Amino acid sequence: MGRAVYLSHPASLEHDTGAHPERPARIAAIEAELARHEWLGMERVEAPRVAAETLTAVHPERYVRGIEELCLAGGGSIDSDTIVVETSYEAALRAAGGAVRLVDLLCSGAAPTGFSALRPPGHHAEPARAMGFCLFDNVAVAAQHALDAHGLERVLVLDWDVHHGNGTNAAFHASPHVLFVSLHEWPLYPGTGPASDVGSGDGLGYTVNLPVPAGAGDALYRSLLEHVVAPLARAYEPQLVLISAGFDAHRDDPLADVELTEGGFAALAGTVRRLAAELEAPVGAVLEGGYDLRALAASTAATLRVLTADDPPPAEEVPVAPEARAALARLGEHWPTLAVV
Ligand SMILES: [Zn+2]
Repeated sequence: MGRAVYLSHPASLEHDTGAHPERPARIAAIEAELARHEWLGMERVEAPRVAAETLTAVHPERYVRGIEELCLAGGGSIDSDTIVVETSYEAALRAAGGAVRLVDLLCSGAAPTGFSALRPPGHHAEPARAMGFCLFDNVAVAAQHALDAHGLERVLVLDWDVHHGNGTNAAFHASPHVLFVSLHEWPLYPGTGPASDVGSGDGLGYTVNLPVPAGAGDALYRSLLEHVVAPLARAYEPQLVLISAGFDAHRDDPLADVELTEGGFAALAGTVRRLAAELEAPVGAVLEGGYDLRALAASTAATLRVLTADDPPPAEEVPVAPEARAALARLGEHWPTLAVV
């Protein structure tokens, strides 16, 4: 098996909408930090454009064309915080394409793990609606591609961005083939993702929303990962794990009030790494938010250090938070094998 991969493309730097928290300097900050550490041994891979049919497996063709036309006409505002310029369409195609290429490399066994470090981010983009800085839902397109092109039947998408991943939530609401688990501050933008939203139709139980209050920190997140997400994943047995990796739950982030540290992100990655090893599923991460440049760079590096290490870190004793116990009790309705601790 080859080395871990780092997917990127210069188009990410051309999607520049002026004074905006979701800005090109985010990528530069991540790359400066990784370069200081020899890229953690990762192989750098240029992200291709996503194939049209891969993109339209999640986003209707008419919607994709609308984004293309808006950009090529010079750009404009889709809503008060989702702005495009002429070069945004190319950036968005590469951002989705990087996530898809990551899935190809993981599913073919060519890479053990990797990170798709492109922008614009994706998890707020619903199938037919751009919002929250997002145009195409990169991780959703990649997860759907894993099902369609690699024949997978069970993909776990773990979204630890501080905001609810309403786009991914919408894309797979009725599907049991993607288990979507989101930890997010609540209430907060975009206002979706209450614990009561558990999916619909055949996907009932396969959407797991774990809202946390403002002020939550490493202890609560670690407890939810160890005592809720891990047993849930063991019950689901995913063939691929994708992290919708936003780093705006960091305590220094200006857009939210969750208080994670770099060490907290490393601990979350550690739990995912142990799980993936146990389930023999590859794990990759796709960049979402994170708006304090220092915190973003340090948290990304902390996460990738764990994902790219030769072995998962040893398990640590993590106390069961009341919120974890409550989540397990709720999930029992759809996941009867989950033990309430
Ligand atoms: Zn976010």
